[in-house]
Amino acid sequence: MTDVSPLDVLPGPISPNRASTQALAALIADLGDIPVVTDSTIVRRRSRDFFWYSPILNEQLNGKAADVIVAPRDEVDVVRVAAACARHRVPLTVRAGGTGNYGQAVPLAGGVLLDITALDAIEWIRPGQIRVGAGAKMNAIDAETQHSGFELRMHPSTKRTATIGGFVAGGSGGIGSISYGGLRERGNILAARVVTLEPEPRVIELRGDAAQKVNRAYGTTGIITALEMPLAPSWPWIDVVVAFDDFMDCVEFGFEAALADGIVKKLLAPVTWPLPSYFGALKSWCPEGKSILIAMIAEPSLESFKALLGRRGVMTLQTPTDDGPGKVPLYEYTWNHTTLQVLKSDRTVTYLQCLYPHDRLLAKVAEMRAMFPDEVLQHLEFIRFNGQVTCSGLPVVRYRDAQRLNEIIALHEAHDVHIANPHVYTVEDGSRYKRVDVDQLGFKHEVDPYGLLNPGKMRSFTASR
Ligand SMILES: Cc1cc2nc3c(=O)[nH]c(=O)nc-3n(C[C@H](O)[C@H](O)[C@H](O)COP(=O)(O)OP(=O)(O)OC[C@H]3O[C@@H](n4cnc5c(N)ncnc54)[C@H](O)[C@@H]3O)c2cc1C
Repeated sequence: MTDVSPLDVLPGPISPNRASTQALAALIADLGDIPVVTDSTIVRRRSRDFFWYSPILNEQLNGKAADVIVAPRDEVDVVRVAAACARHRVPLTVRAGGTGNYGQAVPLAGGVLLDITALDAIEWIRPGQIRVGAGAKMNAIDAETQHSGFELRMHPSTKRTATIGGFVAGGSGGIGSISYGGLRERGNILAARVVTLEPEPRVIELRGDAAQKVNRAYGTTGIITALEMPLAPSWPWIDVVVAFDDFMDCVEFGFEAALADGIVKKLLAPVTWPLPSYFGALKSWCPEGKSILIAMIAEPSLESFKALLGRRGVMTLQTPTDDGPGKVPLYEYTWNHTTLQVLKSDRTVTYLQCLYPHDRLLAKVAEMRAMFPDEVLQHLEFIRFNGQVTCSGLPVVRYRDAQRLNEIIALHEAHDVHIANPHVYTVEDGSRYKRVDVDQLGFKHEVDPYGLLNPGKMRSFTASR
């Protein structure tokens, strides 16, 4: 599989610490003509992601950086880099779009930052299916598949900069999850091709449920080089904003629209006032004092959507979705972008990620609202989860200190609102309900025996060799 001779230089005991200068020099020498960047300013800048959303992670991760960026041109290069890293015991962290929120792509032990973005070729498109390089941007994928009437079933609100591999390895769901659930739902990842981190790397095809072994594992369970993803019918989508006097009326209507199976939608996001007052270019469509529902509705369903709404709210915006170059699509006010819109002018806030129980949804939203009226400003996303319609909550939280944040988390949990903590950087502590229950730890032992893939991110892993 590889053209470098394996096991010719075996360093001493395995250490989770940084690689020595000699090991790095030997590694770079082994890489031959594969492009590398050693300029420390560039390496430091690209070793960051959006961890600064969290004041806690900001303290822990600021200044952590790789030693070198390596940019493979194809899978053969990836195999060569993986072999060299294994041989010289140099840590390797994959970086794609770099839009992760929890320091997922921040190398804790230096080493190689593997820029995977050149692996962006589309292998094939079939009705309802695509096979594509892991480094392909999601907006580029949709632009290609939409010619044949299909698009990705779901994408994060970072669709214009994030890659499909980064979404599978680091994300959970997003625009489209109201119809298809998250990436963790069976069938939402069809297959993944993975390079192992061994002196003689293997290239493994994970099909069906096995592909979940790399889902939201932060690149600790192999380097994904290609993905097979299911597609959905591509509709002419209409961006819609509806204003409500009362946030709970907004949530109630959103829930009805979410449950209305005949209405084709891709996004339903209730946002409480005063959050829309931070919404920059969208502010003109957000009346003072009103909570809003941000929605994407298929054009043929718009009439039914309006009929369901009646006079309960006022539609202030109705325009075809446009996420072409130079445009700011409406979905960039939803999911994790909502918090970003606020952070642009107020760096004292942070956020949480909640999962509401589907059978007590409205009551629980009202309960949390009453418990933290000014401290936790509600922003919900309707999703399907395990076959039920419920809400993911991404509230904006006025940050006091870590202790209070932990109290807020504990109070949510005590009231059956589950939290996937975005203020921790390990897979186990942060993911909670966002991953499926597959044996990612066992798989890591198979594919990364020295523990070199994004070390420190899978807390329960101890290297076996
Ligand atoms: C404003 C904002 C909005 C967001 N909205 C959403 C949202 O709606 N839904 C959501 O799920 N997430 C969201 N996110 C998080 C993030 O944008 C997505 O998860 C995105 O898909 C990550 O893709 P990326 O290419 O930027 O990956 P990166 O940030 O580069 O990487 C993410 C993780 O995956 C690993 N990785 C990347 N590529 C590979 C590969 N080929 N093989 C192995 N490991 C790999 C990295 O090591 C890292 O651990 C948001 C973040 C921000 C800042």
